[in-house]
Amino acid sequence: KHNRKPFVGGNFKMNGSKTMLKEIIDRLNALKCDDHVEVVIAPPTLFLDLAHRSVREGISIAAQNAFNCSKGAYTGEVSPEQLKDLGIDWVILGHSERREIFKESDEFVASKVAHALNVDMKVIACIGEKLEERESEKTEEVVIRQLKSISEKVNNWRNVVIAYEPVWAIGTGKVATPQQAQEVHLIIRNWLAKNVSQQVAQDTRIIYGGSVNDKNSSELAKQPDVDGFLVGGASLTEKFITIISCFV
Ligand code: PEP
Repeated sequence: KHNRKPFVGGNFKMNGSKTMLKEIIDRLNALKCDDHVEVVIAPPTLFLDLAHRSVREGISIAAQNAFNCSKGAYTGEVSPEQLKDLGIDWVILGHSERREIFKESDEFVASKVAHALNVDMKVIACIGEKLEERESEKTEEVVIRQLKSISEKVNNWRNVVIAYEPVWAIGTGKVATPQQAQEVHLIIRNWLAKNVSQQVAQDTRIIYGGSVNDKNSSELAKQPDVDGFLVGGASLTEKFITIISCFV
């Protein structure tokens, strides 16, 4: 897998409490994995500061979203500058739940990626097709459309991780097969090679998300272009440790 360091993210979504967060972080703090895998957790916004203060060195924190400008009259939003001020290094952008439920367009997602990167945040950029798009053989078209829109805003790919998350697999218990994941990851990597550079294609981590658990993670992890995972449901449980340990 060249020199790409595996990356495992935990997306807690709108789940958990202070007590639950403490339990999750205690388990992660006890795990020795830093030489082998980069671990980033994304708790709900209101727990970001607590999480940041509770994790040991070597584990990073991500916000689940951020707006596309620095400050102003945007009730309920949080800016990348404010996240940076808190010491948060990462942000998840373009998650399918944001795209679907909150109607975030490709352009809006791309503008948020641009703003976050401009203030030196690192971005987990999510792309992925819906079930009806896969069934009508539009997977490549959709994934590349989303990727292209983001890539137009990226100057330096060092701070970007691409999460391929087929929407039909998110929170459904219906995981992509290792072959299905590998196929799309390779399409993404080949697109980067052709449209950005060979170096960026080789260096950029492309992680899989969608019903990853302790049973299916090791087979997925063996795929040559699967560089890690974005884990939703299972990141709230002790299964997250088993998933991370695939790479240790
Ligand atoms: C996610 O929210 O990014 C995700 C992949 O969720 P789950 O693992 O629960 O399918």
